[in-house]
Amino acid sequence: MALSKLDNLYRQVILDHSHHPHHHGQLLEGETVDMNNPTCGDVIRLTLQLEGDQIRDIAFTGSGCSISVASASMMTDAVIGKSIETALELATIFSEMVQGKVDERQDELGDGAFLSGVAKFPQRIKCSTLAWHALEKALDNRSGHAELANLSGH
Ligand code: ZN
Repeated sequence: MALSKLDNLYRQVILDHSHHPHHHGQLLEGETVDMNNPTCGDVIRLTLQLEGDQIRDIAFTGSGCSISVASASMMTDAVIGKSIETALELATIFSEMVQGKVDERQDELGDGAFLSGVAKFPQRIKCSTLAWHALEKALDNRSGHAELANLSGH
């Protein structure tokens, strides 16, 4: 079956991100999370720096299939400078989108919206959500620290 022009465009954007991922590398300080997707062999290490309730900087390393690397690159573009609350909302919008749900805020995912086609390939959903789950975990860890700090009287 021949790819339509639109499919070609989607494919090109995904390949560009996977070949030249944005925010690729490691931050010297920050919340670090390692995650993997055993069904495909994708691994990611995500580092996150917060300033107040805003994501000041974010970077990732790892290896995996085109979809997992492209999705991580698109995720970093989408959440940098955003509030924690907005970033978590975007994570939800993304994971619903790749399961075939349409959301009017999908455009806020930036290039990430180009991964909506993943819904047609259920076995690739976990590749596309890996980076977003790592983000959720990093933000979760972070709020855990805040609770601990409160408990110890700071
Ligand atoms: Zn994968």
